[in-house]
Amino acid sequence: MSGSARRSWQRCAACGHEMDELARETRCPACSGLLEIVHAAPATSTGQLKQQFAAASVTAQGAAASGVWRFQEIVLPTATAPVSWPEGNTPLLERALVQQWAACPRLALKHEGMNPTGSFKDRGMTVGVTQAVRVGATAVACASTGNTSASLAAYAAQAGLPALVFVPSGGIAMGKLAQSLAYGARTLLVRGDFDDCLRLVEQAHRELGVYLLNSINPFRLEGQKTIVLELLLQLGWESPDWIAVPAGNLGNTAAFGKALREARALGLISRVPRIASVQAAGAAPFATAFAEDFATRHRVRAETVATAIKIGDPASWDRAVRAIRETNGVVLAVSDAEILEAKAVIDASGVGCEPASAASVAGVRKLVAAGTIGPDERVVAVLTGHVLKDPGMLLRYHQEMDPPPARANRPVEIEADLRDVARVLDLRTR
Ligand SMILES: *Cc1c(COP(=O)(O)O)cnc(C)c1O
Ligand SMILES: [Zn+2]
Repeated sequence: MSGSARRSWQRCAACGHEMDELARETRCPACSGLLEIVHAAPATSTGQLKQQFAAASVTAQGAAASGVWRFQEIVLPTATAPVSWPEGNTPLLERALVQQWAACPRLALKHEGMNPTGSFKDRGMTVGVTQAVRVGATAVACASTGNTSASLAAYAAQAGLPALVFVPSGGIAMGKLAQSLAYGARTLLVRGDFDDCLRLVEQAHRELGVYLLNSINPFRLEGQKTIVLELLLQLGWESPDWIAVPAGNLGNTAAFGKALREARALGLISRVPRIASVQAAGAAPFATAFAEDFATRHRVRAETVATAIKIGDPASWDRAVRAIRETNGVVLAVSDAEILEAKAVIDASGVGCEPASAASVAGVRKLVAAGTIGPDERVVAVLTGHVLKDPGMLLRYHQEMDPPPARANRPVEIEADLRDVARVLDLRTR
């Protein structure tokens, strides 16, 4: 590897082994540790970087209009032909109903469900599939709780690459499975859970040579960093006090930590927000470990209604520990009931999100109640996926649960007769 010309390279986070940017392995060949991308410092000043990032957003063409590739200088500087939808540029929303429910008046929602395939996974996938093309991959694969497969399927289709996705049979939300089929991925329904799928796809990568696009792939994390970079840009590089994020496989937690570390080193921000990583109580090995100061790595058999974070053995563990430590972050768990209540409030505010996404807001409410988040603190909660991802869960919640949850909005079946309409109106005004 020649020293001076390289702008980015890969490094093993465990043993420090360095590899070329175009190496195809997704783990360290020396110790099988996870890899990270290291970028040489950009030649531009902090001020120039900020100008460059802000200017890119007004360009209307292709990748230039992407909320990911706008940050190319610190994401993947050497790529010349990004496979871009384009993605990113998601809104930062304030909704009084959600702020009141969480008792957090300065809460904003970063809605990653507004990405092209309806989740933040597109931010990682545009970079991951771009990299797959750069290294000459002939096929790409991932294990997924649904959104990664939907995203991979769409980006692989755009790149003209065959995609192979491994999902737990019967374990993924309807919208996600439908997308993966629609975009043309070869979809394998594995009789097992997500953790089984991940083991299997890593084997397929090693033995059969398919390019692996799970979030252990460090290029995906480079794309996911832009959730944080973009929200900081939206806030005029004025850091919020907290960033709350749902946590499953811990790719986002890790990516957020890296984004903040780099933003600080580049002088883009002067103060690092604290990360609040929120797990579902039935899938909370990271929260358990946090309570023990990360003394041991935990694994559980995961159970939660929030299928996108139903993960018992998170892959990005070590890099997420680093992110929590470096940002003075916290990790907590919220129950399925708390997740569903948060979701019902977010939905009723007109914003909407999938169940896993609501964990961030449920977590904020809990941290405010505990006094960890102060009443004047500025918080950004990331909503990771779109409300239409999981219509099955929505219909169960509103139509079927018995007794109906407090916020259930039961549909009313009537005769095609105005008297029935009048009766319904009467009921609602009484
Ligand atoms: C993938 C996903 C998550 C979990 O993110 P990790 O990076 O695996 O922790 C949360 N919510 C949604 C909607 C997702 O698709
Ligand atoms: Zn190593």
